[in-house]
Parts: sequence; C-alpha cells; structure tokens
Amino acid sequence: AFKLTKLAGAYWRGDQANAQLQRIYGTAWASEEDLAAHLTRLEEAERRDHRKIGQLMDLFHIQEEGKGMIFWHPKGWRLYRTLQNYVRRRTEAGGYDEVKTPQILDHSLWQKSGHWDKFGANMFVCTTEDGDILAVKPMNCPGHIQIFNHGQRSYRELPLRFAEFDGLHRNESSGGLHGIMRVRGLAQDDGHIFCTPDQIESESKAFIDMLRVVYADLGIELHSVKLALRPDMRFGDDETWTIAEDTLERAANAAGVQVERIANEGAFYGPKLEFHLRDAIGRTWQCGTLQLDYVLPERLDASYIGEDGAKHRPVMLHRVILGSLERFLGILIEHHAGAFPLWLAPVQVVVATITSAADDYAHEVVRALTAAGIRAELDVRNEKINYKIREHSLVKTPVIAVVGRTEAEGRQVALRRFGSQAQEILGLDEAVSLIRGQATPPDLITAP
Ligand code: ZN
Repeated sequence: AFKLTKLAGAYWRGDQANAQLQRIYGTAWASEEDLAAHLTRLEEAERRDHRKIGQLMDLFHIQEEGKGMIFWHPKGWRLYRTLQNYVRRRTEAGGYDEVKTPQILDHSLWQKSGHWDKFGANMFVCTTEDGDILAVKPMNCPGHIQIFNHGQRSYRELPLRFAEFDGLHRNESSGGLHGIMRVRGLAQDDGHIFCTPDQIESESKAFIDMLRVVYADLGIELHSVKLALRPDMRFGDDETWTIAEDTLERAANAAGVQVERIANEGAFYGPKLEFHLRDAIGRTWQCGTLQLDYVLPERLDASYIGEDGAKHRPVMLHRVILGSLERFLGILIEHHAGAFPLWLAPVQVVVATITSAADDYAHEVVRALTAAGIRAELDVRNEKINYKIREHSLVKTPVIAVVGRTEAEGRQVALRRFGSQAQEILGLDEAVSLIRGQATPPDLITAP
C-alpha cells in the first residue's frame, strides 16, 4: 500500500552545477490499514504542530534576527514558568540545592573539562579587550564542579545534589533548527549528583522514582528505558564499566522499570540511562537521561576526604527529567494539542459577559479568581456570547465562566469546560474554590 506525498526539485548528487531533477516523495506500507494509520498520524502531527498552536495561542515567536532563540510572550512565559516552578519544587523535594553559575567563562575551563575539544564548534565564543577568550556555557556541569571544589569536601556531605535552571546556548546549524524543539537558546531542568561509588544505586533509584512521578503528573507515558553501554573508544577499565552498567540496571529494576541494553551507545566517560516518552499520537521522544561520569571529576580535580582520611574522587551523575524545557514544552503542546490540563494552562478561566449589565459583576468574578491564584481573564467585549465561547474554545481555554444579568443578580457563574457543551451553574465562592482545587499543580495537592 503506498501513496505519493509531495514533489520537490533536487540537483543530481546535491550539486548545484548539475542538472535539476524532480524528486518524488512517497510512503509505502505492508497493508492499507498501516498506510491509513500512518497518514492519520501525519495529519494529526500537522494539526498539533507546536509552531501553529504557539501562534494561535499567542505563546511565543521567533524572528530572523534571533535564529533558534525564543521570544516568549506573556501567555507562553506563564506556561513556561508554571512547568519550571513545578519541576523546581519536585527537584527541591528530592533533596537538591538550586545554584546559579556564570553564563560566560574563560575558555581555559572549557579546555580542562574537554568541552573545548569535543563541543567547541557548538559554543558561542567572544574575546575581551584584554585578549581573554570566553565561551558562553552550553551546559552547567563544569560550573557545578567549581562549586563542589570550593572548599574541602567530606564523605559526610555526600551525596551532594545541585540543580540549575539557567539559560544555555549552543551554536546549532541553522538548518537543524525547528520551532522551539531545536533551538540555540534553552534551559534544562539540570542537575548533578556528587556521590561515592556506593551511593550510585540508591541515588539512581531515587532519581528514577522522581522522574516517573513527574511524567505521570504531566500525563505522558514512559514508553521505554534504554541503557547505553560502553563504546569502543572509552575511558576506564572494563571492570569499572561492568560495575557501572550493572548498577544502573539494578537501580532501574528497583524503581520498577526494565531496561533495554544498547551496545556501544554510551559516552566515553560512562554508561547512560535514556528515558523515552510516548505522546498522544504514538511518537516517542527521548527526554530524561541519567549519565554516570567518572571522567569529569578527574579532569576538573574534584575530591572529597573519605572515612579513611584519604582523598577520593566522587562519582558524578548528570541527570535531567524534562531535558530542554523549550523542547519539552514543544512536546507537551503537541501531546495535548494545546488543550493543557487546567493546572498548566496559561489562561485557566475566561470570564465572558452576555450583557454589559453584567460588566461590574464580571470584574468582581475575575478579581475573586485572581485573588485565589487562578490565571483569569475578562471578556466584556460587545459580542454575542456564542461568538466569545467559540473564540475562547479555539485557543483551548479550559474554563469559560459565563455571566449575564441572572448570574449577576444571583451571584453565580455558569461554567463551561473545554470540549463540553454542558453548563454548570455555581455560586461564586463555590466556583472559585472548585476551580482552585482543580488548578492546583499536582505536587501541591496534599492528601485530605
Ligand atoms: Zn552535566
């Protein structure tokens, strides 16, 4: 079963000096059903494209002067901060201390860390009038080691967990950029754990437990976990690698997940767990990672005094749950097709009037919602209520509170939920407390 999908021009062997050819794209499947499913998935992906929804919901834009850099609009930034604050609280509850390290550091540090050699082409570099060569950070790891190294560390302080949400910049080629999914300016829910070899397993398990809670809260399914094993070119002896790989697998199993071992995929400095998510239309995305690292502590001379009074190297665990927040938000936008759960939605409630006679009361309703911490907006335009409802539904507003003369007199609101025709008539106080309860981020919900 096949379908031809599009045409494009192409040069023979990709060389502009050669003749131009016609390229014909198509897709072929074993059965008509598979083909139909594939085409539906493409259509769905198109409908859910985060760039379209981002524009429709007025979340962000990108312009020519800032390739791969995002201008977050007020509603988009609310969404961003809601997600960031949520994962920040989960991280703090997991025993991490948040830190902030410089955006720009001398290239000598990046040389010592190895990034200058391995990653230099992707770093933004500048020179001062003194002739210092500086580089904008593409990752936080060397910065966190500087904090670890500041002062003598003892085994009693370990594990030490640092988190950082600061901006990172990577000089990606312009051809690879894609909306907010592949960018040059990003921030991660980044964290590093410094621990003893004995603590790797318990720290890894605790991380995976936290990651599973976060994904469940965000309504995205953890699809598979891969264990990237030793590559041919590597640092360290085989015995250390075997212990490291087995420890990560044991920790994953203890956290209730099975791993798929992938040969040769690890970094030269240690094995890695990769967490893949599956979205609403069946696409998978690698988001979380847990990377064991014996090399960076060595290169940047991190040490602690052990129980034996001697100096030891800590093991470093690099971990993210969401990864790039920009990319993760792109995934979330497409997963929910913009119809976010109430707690994440940038505008949670729009209060829309039927008649101008209800304007004063509508203002009061918005004030009451805002005072309760609910992100509410007002629509008192001189438009028909059905027009207003259609418009706010188009941008996926989770709750529309309709108020007319009757509601104003009875101090009530008529609530309409996204995707439903039903109306729920409630007293104002009752409505505020109901919505407040439903809009609470999952980590702040305490058992009754
Ligand atoms: Zn790192």
